[in-house]
Amino acid sequence: MTSLNPQPYTFSQRAQKITSSTIREILKVTERPEIISFAGGLPAPKGFPIDIIYAAYEKVLNHNGKAALQYGPTEGYRPLREWVAQDLKRVGAHDVNVDQVLIVSGSQQALDLLGKLFIDPGSKVLVEAPSYLGALQSFSLYEPNYVAVPTDDKGLIPEGLTDDRVAHARFIYALPNFQNPTGRTLNLERRKALVKRCAEANLPIIEDDPYGDLRYAGEPLPGLLGLGREVGATVIRLGSFSKVLAPGLRLGYIVAPEAIIAKLVQIKQATDLHTATLTQMAVYETIHEGFLNFHLPAVREIYKEQCGYMLEAMQEFFPASAKWTRPEGGMFIWVTLPEHIDAYELLSRAIKKHVAFVPGEPFYAGAEPVRNTLRLSFVTVSKERIREGIEILGRLIAESAVS
Ligand code: PMP
Repeated sequence: MTSLNPQPYTFSQRAQKITSSTIREILKVTERPEIISFAGGLPAPKGFPIDIIYAAYEKVLNHNGKAALQYGPTEGYRPLREWVAQDLKRVGAHDVNVDQVLIVSGSQQALDLLGKLFIDPGSKVLVEAPSYLGALQSFSLYEPNYVAVPTDDKGLIPEGLTDDRVAHARFIYALPNFQNPTGRTLNLERRKALVKRCAEANLPIIEDDPYGDLRYAGEPLPGLLGLGREVGATVIRLGSFSKVLAPGLRLGYIVAPEAIIAKLVQIKQATDLHTATLTQMAVYETIHEGFLNFHLPAVREIYKEQCGYMLEAMQEFFPASAKWTRPEGGMFIWVTLPEHIDAYELLSRAIKKHVAFVPGEPFYAGAEPVRNTLRLSFVTVSKERIREGIEILGRLIAESAVS
C-alpha cells in the first residue's frame, strides 16, 4: 500500500529534533528591499578591507602557491597560530603558547566542536539568559539539558552559580563583551567573581568574544582567559576574524589547555580535516605586520556612528515605557517593552509597516523566555532608514501601550 505522504528518508533522531531558526524565518521576509531590517546580525561591509585582502591572496599565491593550495595540519597554519598566541596579550593573557591554539572555520565551528567534545544527551550546560542563538543551535544538536544562569542589567550574575546549578555541569558558556543579543558587558568585578567561582567549582568556561575588538566607548577590560589563569580556572576562549576583517573568510580560533586542544584536533580532523590553507595564509599575510592597528579604529568608528544613530532615534521616538541597553561596543541593542506587549505580536504589526527585528524569545534556553524583549541590530541600515524604522517601531509600541 502506498502512503499519500511518503516519507522517503529516515533522519536521525538528532536531526529530527532540529527546528528552523526563528531568525532565519524572519530574515527571509527581510530580504525584501522595502523592509527596514534591524533583524540581521551582519557586520558592516564598509569595513571589509577588500583591496588589502585581494593583495594578500595574490601575494600568497604568487610566492607560496603550492603550499597554499595543499592540505595542511588540522591545528592550523603555524604562523597564524603564533600570531594569535601573542595577540592575546592585548586581552591580558600573557602566557599562551602555540600548542594551545587551534584554528577553526569561524567561531561557529568552535561551538560545534565543543558541543561534540563536552555534551552527551542530557548533559547539564549552563548558559546566560538570554544567550547567543547560534550557540544554542550548535549545542542543541548534542541534546544538552540547559540550565540558565540569571542575568541583570550588568549581564551574568556570578552569585547565580549556586552549588545546585554548577553540580555536574559540563561547562558555562559566557559572552563577556557586548553580548549577543543584549549588547551588555560584564564589569571587571563580575569577571573576577565568575572565574574565581568556576575555579572553585572546577567548571570550564567557554568565553565567546567575537566583538571584543569592536569597543567604541568605555575602557577595555581583561578577558576571562587571562583572569582565569590567575586563579586556576579552565577558560576556553573563542576568537573570530569575522568582525575585524570579514565573515566570508570563515576564520576563527580556539584557545584552551593542551589536553582540550588535543581532543578538539581529533574531532576537527573527523569534521573537515583542517581550515582552508589559502585563507589562513592570506589572513596571516594581511595582519602580521600590524594592519589591524590601522584598520580597527576605522571599523570601530563605523559601529560607533551607527549605534549613535539608533540610540538617538530611540531617545526621540520610543515611549518612556520602553527600556533599552546602551552598548559600549558590538552590534546590538536589547529592548525591554512594557510587560503586556508580546514582541512576536509587535513584529507581525511591524512587518506590515515594513520594519523587522528579532523577538527575544528564541534567545532563552533553560529559563522562561521574557516575551516582551527584542533585539535590534544597527549595523547595516543607513542613518535615514534607522530614523524611519525606529519612528515606526516607537509608534507601534506606544499604540500597544495605550490599547
Ligand atoms: N559567537 C557569537 C556571539 C556571534 O555573534 C557569532 C556571529 N554572529 C559567532 C559566534 C559566529 O561567528 P563566526 O563563525 O563568523 O566566527
